[in-house]
Amino acid sequence: MTEKAYNAYEVAQQQFDEIAEKINLDKATAELLRQPLREYHFSIPVKMDDGSVQVFRGFRIQHNDARGPAKGGIRFHPLETVDTIRALSMWMTWKCSVVDIPLGGAKGGIICDPRNLTEREQEQLCRGFVRQISKNVGPYNDVPAPDVMTNAKHMLWMLDEFETIHGARYPGFITGKPVGMGGSLGRKEATGFGIIYTLREALKELNIDITKTTASLQGFGNVAQHAAMMYQELGGKLLAVSCWDNNDKKAYTFQKLDGIDINILQNITDSYGTIDKDKAIELGYQILSGDVWIEQDVDILIPAALENQITTENVNRISSQVKVIAEGANGPTAPDADKVINERNIFVVPDFLANAGGVTCSYFEQVQSNMNYYWEKDEVLQKLDIKMTSAFKSVYDLSVQKKIHMRDAAYIIAINRVAQAVKSRGWV
Ligand code: NAD
Repeated sequence: MTEKAYNAYEVAQQQFDEIAEKINLDKATAELLRQPLREYHFSIPVKMDDGSVQVFRGFRIQHNDARGPAKGGIRFHPLETVDTIRALSMWMTWKCSVVDIPLGGAKGGIICDPRNLTEREQEQLCRGFVRQISKNVGPYNDVPAPDVMTNAKHMLWMLDEFETIHGARYPGFITGKPVGMGGSLGRKEATGFGIIYTLREALKELNIDITKTTASLQGFGNVAQHAAMMYQELGGKLLAVSCWDNNDKKAYTFQKLDGIDINILQNITDSYGTIDKDKAIELGYQILSGDVWIEQDVDILIPAALENQITTENVNRISSQVKVIAEGANGPTAPDADKVINERNIFVVPDFLANAGGVTCSYFEQVQSNMNYYWEKDEVLQKLDIKMTSAFKSVYDLSVQKKIHMRDAAYIIAINRVAQAVKSRGWV
């Protein structure tokens, strides 16, 4: 018998339904919040460099905008599905709500593999995406951002197309822009640093000295690299990271038991977060199979690659030494595996709290872009730390007060705020 395929949207709805029941959410509000308000599905024809035309599928899904303009990244991935985007748009709503920023949730994606596209083809894809959706997004209704395999360069092409269509400058249309072209200092670091700000607070509550801890990370892209950097800055010792190797079409774990130097590892990593195996071997790394990042004897695990990475298949391989899991990726833990983690009393900083630093800084970028006045990096990171710390404390306090797990506490806070907003607006 084959196992049922993972569906992120079913997971997101299942998580929502459980909390809706716990907080006695009325039927109409629950019905409204358990699915997206609006979805756009479209085709993007692109003239390829060889003269042929390839048609790509794109999506923009706005889950809820009761608390403010919808907000969420656009990802490029060959295995992208509408249901994944639906789930991610829903998680964005809870994420903005849990850190209490005045934004809703959305997500977008294009089924493509940018690693096989030239610069010009990628630019055409970005511009084509905006041409299909330009009437339904904008600084006051839906503000996109980068996500998996998209970056500042893509955002600027998208902004340029939007401004060409609308005939004026709208720097607040999109975030994650290059610094100097409407981007915010600190945005690049924000998600990864934010994870570690919440991890730092969790360790304080658990009376664990961060300088005596070790960690293993899944992923070595934007999020994971900056998380690793801040973790190292606070004195933690990273022992393993894993990443995807597109040539071999499989993942590897890079282990260094005397501690990884992030700056050196970054120097041998490409822009897609793939570490050069040969150079890593020269530097004394052990190259292991992609799945063993999870079974390292460390205090902290940080899944920061993709969704559905901790499952019933591998959850029991988590070492008894692990005390905290800080979820960097969106939806890295399957609900059944989550139950096992809870039973084992491993403290979880749930994804939409831990990785909310990115959207919080995107919100700061939007504010700066709309004012056309930009803050210094220290000011951005200080504001980020305040927001993340205060969100962590609210969730932690509720979890202690109600004797519930952190994920449930985060959901209760987030869903209650959005439910209040839809009710106050008179939608239900
Ligand atoms: P990225 O594309 O920069 O990096 C992804 C990394 O994961 C790469 O190192 C890749 O090699 C690795 N990877 C992919 N498949 C893997 C596998 N099977 N095993 C091990 N490693 C694998 O992406 P990112 O921006 O760092 O995002 C990572 C996660 O964080 C995603 O879930 C994303 O939705 C989430 N997220 C990103 C942001 C942001 O600001 N970029 C914000 C919030 C959440």
